Amino acid sequence: LDQNNDIRSRIRTIPDFPKPGIQFRDITTLLLDAEGLKLTIDRMAAQVQGPVDLVAGIEARGFLFASALAMRLETGVLLVRKDGKLPGATIAEDYALEYGTDRIAIHADACAPGARVLLVDDLIATGGTARAAVRLLHKAGAVVVQAAFVVDLPELGGAAALRDDGVAVSALVV
Ligand code: 5GP
Repeated sequence: LDQNNDIRSRIRTIPDFPKPGIQFRDITTLLLDAEGLKLTIDRMAAQVQGPVDLVAGIEARGFLFASALAMRLETGVLLVRKDGKLPGATIAEDYALEYGTDRIAIHADACAPGARVLLVDDLIATGGTARAAVRLLHKAGAVVVQAAFVVDLPELGGAAALRDDGVAVSALVV
C-alpha cells in the first residue's frame, strides 16, 4: 500500500539524465502542482519528530522544501551550499562522487552550539551529500535531529547509512 501515491504520481522519471542509464526523479512537476506541493509540506511536517530550532536545506532543490517547512515549523533556514557561494566565513566538507569529490559549505556562525537541526533535501540516493551535510552541521556544534526527504532511493543505501550515523530519516516516497 502506497499512502503517498498522490505525491509519487506527481513526480516524473526522465530517462538518461544527466547521463545514460540514470533514471532521474524529477520533482519539478510536484512543485508546479499547488495541491501536490501543499500535501508534500503537510506530510513532511507531520513526520517531524520532536522540537526543531532550525531547518537546514541542501542546495538547490532542498532549499524549496526547507523554506516551506521552516515556515510551518516557525524556524529559520540554514543554507548548505556548494563551496564558494557563501559570502561570509565558512566551514566546508568534502564528499565522494562517482568520479572525484565535491565540497559543500555553511557559514561558520550559522547555528548556535546545541541547536536542534532538521536537515532537508528533495532526494537521498547514495547519501554522500546528506552525510557530508550532517558532518558539517556536527562540526558547527548542531544536533541533527532528523533528515527529511521527499524521495528515498533505498537500493542506493543512503538512508541506511544515515541511520547508521545515528540520524533519524524520513521520506514520503520510497
Ligand atoms: P546522493 O548524494 O544521495 O547520492 O544524491 C542526492 C543528491 O543528488 C541530492 O542533493 C539530490 O538533489 C540529487 N539527486 C540525485 N539523484 C537525483 C534524482 O534522481 N532526482 C533528483 N531530483 N535529485 C537527485
